[in-house]
Amino acid sequence: MDIFRGQNLLEFAERFKSDEDCKEYLAHFKWSEGFKCTKCNHTGCQIRGNHSRTCNKCSHTESSTANTLFHKVKFGIRKAFFICFEMSTTTKSLSASHISVRFGITEKTARLFMHKVREAMKSSESYPIDGNGHIDEFVVGGKETGAVGRSYHTKKKKIVCAVELTEDGKVKRMYSMKIDNYSSKELKRLFDKHISNEANVVTDK
Ligand SMILES: [Zn+2]
Repeated sequence: MDIFRGQNLLEFAERFKSDEDCKEYLAHFKWSEGFKCTKCNHTGCQIRGNHSRTCNKCSHTESSTANTLFHKVKFGIRKAFFICFEMSTTTKSLSASHISVRFGITEKTARLFMHKVREAMKSSESYPIDGNGHIDEFVVGGKETGAVGRSYHTKKKKIVCAVELTEDGKVKRMYSMKIDNYSSKELKRLFDKHISNEANVVTDK
């Protein structure tokens, strides 16, 4: 996954050429430690063509985008990935009109999605995730997101995000931190830092 190091737009564009690539990416991390049904905890599943998983026991189907910022975005998951990439790698603040022109979506749509991303990103480290945590590795290069009042670093890095969801599955808060790789040891650092022991973490593991 070295391709996600840094802020190279061409590499990012090469990696995510279609919505399909993005779904595959999300599915890869979501179920990297294996599938576990969110309804019945069964671990056997069928992998569908669109990268969603259907539980062998209760037939519940979970898409790769479920419980992520990219769920049901009307303008397409790939555009959403790129908007996140742009927001994460640009040091100046981006306007909705700028994003709307660059991505061919209406300004209103751009504003709504950017708001969602910013809301998720502005959470503070001082409040550990204690509700429904969801680990979502949306990896981008560039500045550190998620930490209010912190200076931005431009150093190349991988970023892993923990997203806290509300009862109805909306993104409440998101934390992110730099990791060196995707080993469970690195991911554990995120848990230790941000997620309280009582948290009900819905993740791959
Ligand atoms: Zn099930």
